[in-house]
Amino acid sequence: MTSTEEGPFAIDSALWSDFLAGRRLACARLISLVENVPESVPEIRDRLIPLQKGGVRIGITGPPGVGKSTVTASLARRFLKAGRSVGIIAVDPSSPFTGGAFLGDRVRMQSVLDDDRAFIRSLASRNGHGGLSPATPFAADVLDAFGMDRILIETVGVGQTELDVLDCSDLVVLVLQPATGDVIQALKAGILEIADLFLINKSDLPGAESLLDSLRFLFEISARRDGAAAPPVLVASALKDQGVDEVHAALESRIGELAASGRFEEKKRRRMEREIRDAIRDCLWERYSALAGVNDDIPALSAELVRTGRSPYPAIRALCRMITLAAGEEMEGKARP
Ligand code: GDP
Repeated sequence: MTSTEEGPFAIDSALWSDFLAGRRLACARLISLVENVPESVPEIRDRLIPLQKGGVRIGITGPPGVGKSTVTASLARRFLKAGRSVGIIAVDPSSPFTGGAFLGDRVRMQSVLDDDRAFIRSLASRNGHGGLSPATPFAADVLDAFGMDRILIETVGVGQTELDVLDCSDLVVLVLQPATGDVIQALKAGILEIADLFLINKSDLPGAESLLDSLRFLFEISARRDGAAAPPVLVASALKDQGVDEVHAALESRIGELAASGRFEEKKRRRMEREIRDAIRDCLWERYSALAGVNDDIPALSAELVRTGRSPYPAIRALCRMITLAAGEEMEGKARP
C-alpha cells in the first residue's frame, strides 16, 4: 500500500545525489525501495517526475518458454547498437536475469549486462498468481528518470499478466512459437487484441510459416475492435539471431507511428489515472479501516461466510457504514473548537 501522508518517508540525500550523478547502484537501490518500501513511493515519484524523459515502455509477453528472455536480450543488443540506452525489467522469479535458468541465456544476457547503457533488473511477481509486481510501473519510472530510452518489460506470461502488462507499457509485443496452439490460447485470453506487434519466434523450428498464415488469416477475418489496421507480424529466431534486425526495425517504426498518433500520451494519462485512484483507495482504506477497527475482523468474517455459505454483501455494507461513521466522527472532532 502506498502512503500518501506527507513526510513519513525521507529519501537519503546521498542516495539521491548518487542517482542524479548516474550511479547504477543508486538506481538499483531506488528500484528496491519502490519494490519493498511502499511508503517511499510518493516521495520518489515526486522527485522522479521532473527527470523523466519519456523512455518508451515495451511490454514483451507471451506463454512461458516461447523465448521472451532470449528475444529481450537480442532486442536489447539491437537498441544498444542503435545508440539507445536500455532498461530491462524482468517480472519472473525464474528468469535468467535472476540467474535461475538456462546457462545459455545467462551467457547471452551477460553481453547485454556488460554495457553500461543497459540496466537489468528482475522483480518478483508478488501477488501470488503470477501477475506483474505492483512495483513494475514505478521501477519503469526509475529507469526512465535514470535516462533509459527503451524500457523492456518482460513478463512471466500466464493469463492475466498479459493484460496487466498492457497497463504498464506503451506498446506490447506478443511472442509466440510454432506448433503449440498458442494462437488459440491467445485468442481465448483476448491477447491478440492488445498486441501492437506479433513475433513468431523459433523460426528455425518447423511450423513458423503455417503459424504466420493462421495469424494473417485471423486478422483478415476479424477486424480489430478499435478499427485499427492489423499489427505487423514478424518471424525470427532469437536463438540463432536471425530476423531480429527486422523485428527491431519494425518495432522502432511502430513506436514512431504510435507516438505520432497520440497513443503514448493516452497511455500515460491512463497510468496516471490508475495511480491516483489506487493511491486514494489505499490511503482511505489504511486510515479509516484502522479508525473503524474493521481490518482485523475480516479474516474471521470471511471464514464465517464461507462456512455458512452466505453472500458477503450485507457484511460489506455494514463495514462501509462503520468506515463512513468513523470518517464522519473524525471530521466532527476536528471541526469542534
Ligand atoms: P521464456 O520463458 O519465454 O522467457 O523463454 P526463454 O527465452 O527462456 O527460452 C525458452 C527456451 O527456448 C530456451 O531453451 C531457449 O534457448 C529456447 N529458444 C529461445 N529462442 C529460440 C529460438 O529462436 N529457436 C529455438 N529453437 N529455441 C529458442
